[in-house]
Amino acid sequence: MINRLAVIGVGLIGGSLSLALKEAGKVKEVIGYARSESVRQEALELGVIDRAADSIADAVNEADIIFLAVPMAAMGSVLEELLPHVKADAIITDGGSAKGQLVDIARNIMGEQLGQFVPGHPIAGTEKSGPSAAFSTLYKDHRVVLTPIDETNSSAVETVTAMWQATGADVYEMDVQHHDVVLAATSHLPHVLAFNLVGMLAERDDCDEVLHYAAGGFRDFSRIASGDAVMWRDICLSNSDAILGLIQQYKQGLSKLEDAIKSQDGDTLKAVFESAKQARDTRFK
Ligand code: NAD
Repeated sequence: MINRLAVIGVGLIGGSLSLALKEAGKVKEVIGYARSESVRQEALELGVIDRAADSIADAVNEADIIFLAVPMAAMGSVLEELLPHVKADAIITDGGSAKGQLVDIARNIMGEQLGQFVPGHPIAGTEKSGPSAAFSTLYKDHRVVLTPIDETNSSAVETVTAMWQATGADVYEMDVQHHDVVLAATSHLPHVLAFNLVGMLAERDDCDEVLHYAAGGFRDFSRIASGDAVMWRDICLSNSDAILGLIQQYKQGLSKLEDAIKSQDGDTLKAVFESAKQARDTRFK
């Protein structure tokens, strides 16, 4: 049982953790903080949190676990601001979508407290944001990846693992850099592609007509282009190396397809499509 959980950033990710733990009876009190007063009030009125704090200091000073769920660009400054106010044995963890840059910041600013920091990432979400988007079952049967570093206390990892398991999630551990490459491939690059495709179509004069005839496949693929622009900007900037590497690889594949279409090379097209279909049908679990 967690006595007091502080959630900094009470939107989809932070709010859903709070609701899941409250529903499971695994937390006595959740104190929430968001930069804007109106968001804090909304979270309180919706019952997403038990108490709204007026400042980060007020939110964290008696917390046993502190969960950071702000946009990636704000993670470092929020972490720095809260450090002087936390209890010595408090555990700090986060739900940010990229891990390397935040871990570097933590190494630079946390000193003795670094062992209490457990970097994490729930692989669950929707394209909605804010406290009203939060729901208690978001993490049920979803994966949560923790990326502890050498300095991380193993008891802190155990506590954070148990916290996520209480939401119904399956918890995995991964190396920081490996996490960022894997998530760039399965989440960050696809978002870049979807934003680019939908943005490209939106600039066409015949956009409304084009979208009118969009079938299910386009709907499925383009859904992720409704993700929050600030959140995805921050993810791209904080995981830039891994994403840029994959964009290069993707461009090579696209050029190969372009050349094959130009030269009416059906064999190459068929081979590429067959191998992708085979992978999608057999290896996607
Ligand atoms: P959200 O917009 O729903 O919530 C973000 C919250 O942070 C809001 O309450 C906002 O008021 C608050 N906030 C913003 N800047 C702040 C600041 N400087 N100080 C304090 N509060 C601030 O976003 P979300 O979808 O919950 O994403 C939160 C984090 O979780 C991001 O780092 C994101 O990368 C990560 N994440 C998102 C998803 C997803 O699908 N949405 C999935 C996994 C991880």
